[in-house]
Amino acid sequence: MSRLVMKFGGTSVANLDRIRRVAKRVGVEVARGHEVIVIVSAMSGKTNELVGWVTDAAGPFYDAREYDAVVSSGENVTAGLLALVLQENGIDARSWQGWQVPVMTTSAHSSARIEDIPTDNFDARFAEGMKVAVVAGFQGISPEGRITTLGRGGSDTTAVAFAAAFGAERCDIYTDVDGVYTTDPRITSKARKLDRIAFEEMLELASLGAKVLQTRSVELAMRYKVRLRVLSSFEEMGDNAGTLVCAEEDIMESNVVAGVAFSRDEAKMTLVSVADRPGVSAAIFGPLSEAAVNVDMIVQNIAEDGRTDMTFSLPVDQVARAQKAMEEAKAAGVINFHDLIADTGVSKVSVVGIGMRSHTGVAARMFKALSDEGINIRVITTSEIKISVLIDRKYMELAVQALHDAFGLESA
Ligand code: ADP
Ligand code: ASP
Ligand code: MG
Repeated sequence: MSRLVMKFGGTSVANLDRIRRVAKRVGVEVARGHEVIVIVSAMSGKTNELVGWVTDAAGPFYDAREYDAVVSSGENVTAGLLALVLQENGIDARSWQGWQVPVMTTSAHSSARIEDIPTDNFDARFAEGMKVAVVAGFQGISPEGRITTLGRGGSDTTAVAFAAAFGAERCDIYTDVDGVYTTDPRITSKARKLDRIAFEEMLELASLGAKVLQTRSVELAMRYKVRLRVLSSFEEMGDNAGTLVCAEEDIMESNVVAGVAFSRDEAKMTLVSVADRPGVSAAIFGPLSEAAVNVDMIVQNIAEDGRTDMTFSLPVDQVARAQKAMEEAKAAGVINFHDLIADTGVSKVSVVGIGMRSHTGVAARMFKALSDEGINIRVITTSEIKISVLIDRKYMELAVQALHDAFGLESA
């Protein structure tokens, strides 16, 4: 019998009425003859509330093991509720928390990676007539036997990992938009839904801020060739609805630029006047990495008199940690700088498209569009299929809209 994985995000399970609606949707697939594994998120807002309780209880330097124990709980509630509602509908369903499956992960609390999902347990239950396994997303168990979580948005990754492990026919991600758009439809009404998007493009968009799919889920789908579809849990949708994330070869035609992504809460730090000699970068970025700071863009200025400025970007909520790491490295004599300047008011805006591999002029078009709006670019980085700029946060929406227009993304 064919297996299907269906994942429902926070807004899709926000209350009992919506959970009933989800149960109906799952019932349709059961009636079609599928064995279904449903992955659920916590009710929308719940995970934020739980995170807030953790920081209220223990400040910013909490014990990550207990953070995971607390924030994983939201999913447990929705999994149990959905199993109950399915049973009310006469469907043989049962819920599982991550540790019961067990979803085996690394020990990296709050950002663990799934290592293995044994299938024998569910296989046996399906063979006995179970129709639906409801699994709490976002969580697993470490080799030490502690509960772990997979990072924010991690239920997407749970879903794809189950689809890969069980050889599911498809992994359907039900959310509050009806697919992947050329940019976040909340920023511009001109955003256009894509029928298909290549894994590589989706991977870049996700890692550059488009939160419709967690980055790791796209990585897994690409590696294990999972048919991944994003669709709305609020609209009745046909079998070809939503957006299919698929191999590049399966897309007939595409624009040079597929989409525009943004990451609102970025920061920029500059170490003023560091020595320009071999080993300096290692001396700076080593301690930052040990402090678990995710450095993104890096720019080193031209040296003068043997000294230079080093600028890098990082998520705004890691600035305090980065400052501490740099001051400590300075005090220990590992690095020497005159000043440390943090700018917490920047955002990153990126254009992404596999067409960039074969087309020139994308950067020029991007910079012209930004300059026409009077937007100053602070830092630029490029890779084969993306260009990112750091700009003042107050211009972020304007920049996204201008780039969406400049690359003609409104029309196919
Ligand atoms: P869920 O709770 O279902 O996991 P998320 O809030 O994590 O949903 O992701 C869906 C949201 O992603 C949408 O509401 C939308 O605002 C945002 N988003 C950002 N970029 C895009 C994009 N390119 N296409 C579609 N949605 C996007
Ligand atoms: N509930 C978790 C979060 O809000 C995981 C998820 O929804 O994917 O990040
Ligand atoms: Mg999500």
